[in-house]
Amino acid sequence: ESIKHITVVGTGVIGNGWITRFLANGYHVTAYDPDAEAEQKTREAVQRAWPYMEKMGLADGATIDHLHVEQDLQKALEHADFVQENVPEREELKRSVISDIDQYVAAEVVIASSTSGILPSTLQADCQHHPERVMVAHPFNPVYLVPLVELVGGEKTEKNYIKKAQSVYESMKMKPLIVRREIEGHIADRLMEAIWRESLHIVNDGIATTEEIDASIIYGPGLRWALLGPFLTLHMGGGKQGMSHLLEQFGPALKLPWTKLKAPELTDELAEKVITGTKAQTSNVEMEELEERRDQFLIEIQQVLEKYWP
Ligand code: NAD
Repeated sequence: ESIKHITVVGTGVIGNGWITRFLANGYHVTAYDPDAEAEQKTREAVQRAWPYMEKMGLADGATIDHLHVEQDLQKALEHADFVQENVPEREELKRSVISDIDQYVAAEVVIASSTSGILPSTLQADCQHHPERVMVAHPFNPVYLVPLVELVGGEKTEKNYIKKAQSVYESMKMKPLIVRREIEGHIADRLMEAIWRESLHIVNDGIATTEEIDASIIYGPGLRWALLGPFLTLHMGGGKQGMSHLLEQFGPALKLPWTKLKAPELTDELAEKVITGTKAQTSNVEMEELEERRDQFLIEIQQVLEKYWP
């Protein structure tokens, strides 16, 4: 059966990103969020991002008019063929919202959670009806422009539902990555957490400012990572023999005390350094302007990426 109506539960940063992506790809969207201002914020967010979706190419018949906002969760789920959950990252809240959704939607409807860190087995634990269609589908901000989505099933998730979700995300020009085993942070956030952790140490130890750390990624590894990821980058660092030479040369360095492994304590002093640092970096650019730059850049860099990884 074909999927036409998508219900988005929780419409903050991520929910609104999903709504934009679903609408631009021709789906009908029903949004639910208990916040009284949510509808207005959602409409503004979709409007703001729409020119970028036009640049990316709208699906036939795609229109903002296919957005419908509902104040009641059960009603919002009435016509759902697919559900994307994006409520705040609190385990109890998510478990209860997902078990409500499970109660209200038809048996075969996928319930996908955007959670960054909660395991799917935990999320489906309270579902009394059909936990086998509950999974994690973890996107990246801004959801309307970044193609990666990590799909993770829990103990009770059945594979055919993962396949079903995969085809929905692929229909929106996304790159679903099926994660074999559930782990905290899935894959990409675990990697980002390592960088984030080491960055905090470097700031905490007074070695570099937030701006210098950003520069060290933007003008260096970040450029290569965008094309090659960490493994192919290292493979090429090994010269003609690639990875095997690289490991001979730098393998022993893995034992050096480069990394600190544990996150530094987020003291008031460290928080202050990080906040004033990023404020200084953005002293002459408003958040709105940064968003415009980021979105335009993401469109252009993906066009370049397609050229080199056809
Ligand atoms: P957010 O705080 O911006 O939005 C959460 C929204 O949920 C709010 O609009 C709030 O009113 C609403 N809400 C609260 N209780 C609700 C309920 N009972 N039912 C429906 N809606 C409810 O949060 P966010 O950053 O959009 O994160 C949402 C989820 O997406 C989290 O699980 C987070 O881990 C995940 N995520 C976030 C990012 C990111 O970069 N922010 C990236 C990937 C995944």
